[in-house]
Amino acid sequence: MDISTVGVIGAGQMGNGIAHVFALAGYDVLLTDVSEDALKAAVSLIDRNLERQVSREKISADDKAAAMARITATGKLADLGQCDLVIEAATEQEAVKVAIFKELLEHLQPHTILTSNTSSISITRLAAGTDRPGKFLGFHFMNPVPLMQLVELIRGIATDDETYKACLNVVERLGKTAATAQDFPAFIVNRILMPMINEAVYTLFEGVGSVESIDLSMRLGTNHPMGPLELADFIGLDTCLAIMHVLHDGLGDTKYRACPLLTKYVEAGWLGRKTKRGFYDYSGDTPVPTR
Ligand code: NAD
Repeated sequence: MDISTVGVIGAGQMGNGIAHVFALAGYDVLLTDVSEDALKAAVSLIDRNLERQVSREKISADDKAAAMARITATGKLADLGQCDLVIEAATEQEAVKVAIFKELLEHLQPHTILTSNTSSISITRLAAGTDRPGKFLGFHFMNPVPLMQLVELIRGIATDDETYKACLNVVERLGKTAATAQDFPAFIVNRILMPMINEAVYTLFEGVGSVESIDLSMRLGTNHPMGPLELADFIGLDTCLAIMHVLHDGLGDTKYRACPLLTKYVEAGWLGRKTKRGFYDYSGDTPVPTR
């Protein structure tokens, strides 16, 4: 199946990175968001990130210009009807995603493959709410998208082989590597990663260690490139909490209970880097631990 035009819904941290890598790989990209400001910010961030790649001699100035020319920002979801592949990367809330698919479906061509970059929500359930469960797949990029090699491809129970293989080819053309996961809560990466992050928050909550000592322990003690609290701030604490809820609800095991301190940070609007405050304060030049 020939895929040349790709739609990306949601121009946040993930959406801008997804648009970036597809445009650089030669796909025409339509990027949309409900927020006009988010859309504008995404296009200028893609420009800056591509520029950084030019200055590091990873790509040429012509590559950058060609990639930027392939990206069209639009406030109209209906414009994505012309795409061969659509990747939904909006906020991690099932109701938001369901509403997007509902609005988009009437505009889609029959051959279009519909995918979600969700970190945890059931692909089978999202697919069942559309007119094309066979052509629906989880297309899960890692953050930051231009730097991370892995893409998790999640097969819903109804995903057909043709759709899966077409997406596998897309991942190859992006120069990335796919790992296949079956559709169970939070798939592979987050099924393993989020309980670790949640446990790090419990370790902080119970006073076992400070933000600094917890991150230092995991960096130097287990050779992780980033500590778990630093990583949580990077991912977004709202996204981390949403994933813990999906694990808890979907698997029914109390070991997935979200740490009350994580809930409190989200309630306070301290969502990590994107709000300049989470387990660290990002208002200055260097992050300062908040506990
Ligand atoms: P984000 O908060 O940075 O961006 C979400 C964007 O979606 C915002 O710009 C928001 O305006 C937009 N949005 C909300 N409702 C919309 C709608 N109805 N139509 C169009 N746009 C809408 O979030 P993010 O970190 O980019 O996460 C997006 C998705 O990617 C989530 O499903 C998340 O689970 C997944 N994901 C996140 C990470 C991560 O590390 N942050 C990693 C992998 C996957």
